[in-house]
Amino acid sequence: MKRRSRVRVAVIGAGAAGLCAARHVLSKPETFDPPVLFEMTNHLGGTWFYEERVGTYDNGYPIHSSMYRDLRTNLPKEIMMFPDFPFDDHLPSFLHHTSVQQYLEKYCEKYDIAHHIKFNTVVEKVKPISMATETGGAVTWEVISRSTCGEQNMQTFNSVFVCNGHYSDPHLPYIPGIEHFKGKVLHSHSYRHPEPFTNKSVVVLGAKASGVDISIELAQVNAQVILSHNTPTVSLPPPLGIRQASAVVGVLEDGSLQFQDGSVTRADILLFCTGYNFNFPFLSPSELALDIQDLLVAPLYKYLLPPSFPSIFFIGICKIICPFIHFDCQVKFALAVLEGLIKLPTQEEMEMEVHGEMQRKQDKGVQMKHLLNLDRDQWGYYLDLAKMGQFTPPLAVLESLYEEVRRQRQKDPQKYRLLNYRLIDATQWELLEAPSEQ
Ligand code: FAD
Repeated sequence: MKRRSRVRVAVIGAGAAGLCAARHVLSKPETFDPPVLFEMTNHLGGTWFYEERVGTYDNGYPIHSSMYRDLRTNLPKEIMMFPDFPFDDHLPSFLHHTSVQQYLEKYCEKYDIAHHIKFNTVVEKVKPISMATETGGAVTWEVISRSTCGEQNMQTFNSVFVCNGHYSDPHLPYIPGIEHFKGKVLHSHSYRHPEPFTNKSVVVLGAKASGVDISIELAQVNAQVILSHNTPTVSLPPPLGIRQASAVVGVLEDGSLQFQDGSVTRADILLFCTGYNFNFPFLSPSELALDIQDLLVAPLYKYLLPPSFPSIFFIGICKIICPFIHFDCQVKFALAVLEGLIKLPTQEEMEMEVHGEMQRKQDKGVQMKHLLNLDRDQWGYYLDLAKMGQFTPPLAVLESLYEEVRRQRQKDPQKYRLLNYRLIDATQWELLEAPSEQ
């Protein structure tokens, strides 16, 4: 009998998602060839590789990472880790970003991933091509990449894992009259540390994780901060004197900012903490029958694969999740699809499921830009993927700890990171008594 050839997988990006994809592909040598990881920078880690520079790399590509100097994780390491690779015990629960970068380097070392990474190689084009096979017209993927020295290369693969990260391309909502603003306009992508903001008046737009964290950092160096947002009031440490205001709705001709409640203010700096756009410059959305907007990619079956091309996988496009756990489940599901362990529904059925799900969310009042937020729904999603893919789902204790962290964060967005946790077993965690500093 003719030996079935092994599946060739391309992975775009050597951040946490790409490394996770490579780790699991490498664990199944009977089915998969070693993967090829394309990484446009000269390092692994993606977001977690801190870059002091802003703007562009020497090769002209935009700086990828949005990490800031003093960032500590907003999830404890107990629910941040890949399920098969814990962080070091001696580390506190909430880590400085350098510890996460070291963790990813160790992960790479343990699973022997580094020599499969093509550094300084940007993927420029990914294109589906049909190939007649004895099984009848399976899709192959053409991946065109370019190395820093300008050399272009074309390779073909049976599957592509898109792991290019979704926190690099600043989302800048339009503010009418913005051209009148006389101060400096920045996005959190280019924020590194608070010192340049000392004694300045800053209006921070958006009160998600970065907006709140950066406001606290700025207030600590004596900036006069107004946190502008249209979510419920955030509980902030009173001594810092951060004011909260409704959303900025326009800039007046004299350069002052106008809030939704009609009040106006002047500011030296307008800092957008308004999230990031999806950006897949190497794909042609229409070719994949995908609608790719700034804040939405659809339709993706199980938030992962386009129904018309079920061998390209978009890892980690969901928001408000435990990213590493999420990547791990999505990668295992994707590999189960490629291994034939999961029999996918027909294209039409997958499309109907996705549209139905999106419609249900919209009927509940979820805005378009929030359709990919999972938050509490992530746990059911992982169970679903695990059941279909026949792998062990994340432990119940993770959900319980996730909820506890949310409570603590809402109570005190500055001090929650001083707490330390320990997982006791599959269902229980405990708070450690003496908070330890890193
Ligand atoms: P990335 O880490 O962005 O990696 C993508 C990689 O793809 C990069 O190395 C990039 O160079 C490469 N690439 C892109 N395009 C191409 C191309 N065309 N060709 C070749 N290579 C390419 N998560 C948490 O779990 N806890 C936290 O506390 C937390 N804090 C965060 C704070 C900030 C400021 C940000 C921005 C994110 C934070 N996250 C946090 C989320 C974080 O993004 C994820 O944890 C995770 O690192 C994302 O991994 P990724 O592999 O999807 O993307």
